[in-house]
Amino acid sequence: MDQIMSHIIEKDPEQRAFHQAVQEVVATVGPVLDRNLEYRKQAVLKRITEPERVIMFRVPWMDDEGQVHVNRGFRVQMNSALGPYKGGLRFHPSVNLGIMKFLAFEQVFKNSLTTLAMGGSKGGSDFDPKGKSDTEVMHFCQSFMAELFRHIGADTDVPAGDIGVGAREIGFLFGMYKKLKNEFTGVLTGKSLNWGGSLIRPEATGYGAVYFASEMLATRSDTMENKTCLVSGSGNVAQFTVEKIIELGGKVMTLSDSSGYILDEQGIDAGKLAFVKHLKNVKRGRISEYTEQYKNAVYTPVDPALGHNPLWDHKADCALPCATQNEINSQDAANLVRNGVQLVCEGANMPSTPEAVDIFLDCKLLYAPGKAANAGGVAVSGLEMAQNSMRLSWPRQEVDKRLKQIMKSIHKTCLDAGEDYGVRGNYVAGANIAGFVKVVNAMLDQGLV
Ligand code: NDP
Repeated sequence: MDQIMSHIIEKDPEQRAFHQAVQEVVATVGPVLDRNLEYRKQAVLKRITEPERVIMFRVPWMDDEGQVHVNRGFRVQMNSALGPYKGGLRFHPSVNLGIMKFLAFEQVFKNSLTTLAMGGSKGGSDFDPKGKSDTEVMHFCQSFMAELFRHIGADTDVPAGDIGVGAREIGFLFGMYKKLKNEFTGVLTGKSLNWGGSLIRPEATGYGAVYFASEMLATRSDTMENKTCLVSGSGNVAQFTVEKIIELGGKVMTLSDSSGYILDEQGIDAGKLAFVKHLKNVKRGRISEYTEQYKNAVYTPVDPALGHNPLWDHKADCALPCATQNEINSQDAANLVRNGVQLVCEGANMPSTPEAVDIFLDCKLLYAPGKAANAGGVAVSGLEMAQNSMRLSWPRQEVDKRLKQIMKSIHKTCLDAGEDYGVRGNYVAGANIAGFVKVVNAMLDQGLV
């Protein structure tokens, strides 16, 4: 295991997020390799941590003032043992190859857990859609797709949204793909409803995370009803996490963006959530504007130099981080535990640092890693692909029922895998082991390719 880690770090020393994601898996699958010596003989860890293909490209575009900009585009096709590559696109200035590889690696395990036939990939750009006009975003998306279209396809690689890529961006990307290929296929998921999207896809990641949280609570004969919750982020995942918590009778008190967070001790109800959706999805405003509308709420700006996030320092029962990676560090985790939090369920990808995860596991909190808890998004993307292939659309209740079943099944798979290896209730080990075994077995069946 140490050899694998030093090999990876030596090869790409700057890719720290990728090292972190691999380290977590490597630390938990040792007993699986001990039980199956063929895995060692076939060097499965070395193979699964090396992307099958990495595509990096120039994305030139022109702003509204006629000035030329150049961004960098990426697609990391990590593993296709279980099906066509599948994973979102992220547009954010922090995007680099290490971030893309970490997300693609996580995606392989997540997709494996969904029970659907999907490999894992991830892509994006260091382009920042914030503050850009619709026309600028369209020009960027068209230029991005002018290269990406060669590498994707309904049976090859099917991108979706992620940070900075929502319905607007998916529309522009799809339009350009269709023009270049002259085909209308399910090459992207997260499409709008009137041209091939699936009902419940926008809701799926957030709803799925709350279904997973409910399953965890059920193991302690508990429910979401009357639970007070801290949620971070205010984008797609956060919005629908809040919506489902409200529906199940819980109370959400916080939301955030990269500038700061709001605390509404009276709770964010359906009306306030509708305000946030309009603020973020239509006005593309800042979460601080919430307090202009709801005077009882308090806005706190957060300076990253502070070293911890005060959002996680309030009394609550549950915490659902839905913004970005490493947003909960050891100090935040200690604060959550001190404030009585019993459950941490990750809507975002890898939002807790390894030190924070250790604290959650040591304190025997109900702790669900993103690769299990936020798999609902890609699961419904898989259902969108199925509907596109059949040229059918399933009703809302049907998709929601399937989503709920999938989250229930992922929860059980994590518990069973943990039990099989003597760590029942450790969802990190359970998710890694179950995801790993399925992918590795498929890789071995398909030979050394
Ligand atoms: P959105 O772009 O819709 O929202 C992201 C939210 O997180 C925004 O409020 C944003 O604030 C905030 N944020 C982004 N970067 C930072 C940062 N560095 N520090 C603090 N806040 C930040 O993205 P999604 O809701 O789609 O994604 C959120 C998380 O969920 C990501 O980790 C993503 O990978 C994960 N995820 C998403 C899925 C999906 O279906 N969309 C599926 C599975 C996982 P601001 O507006 O200021 O940037």
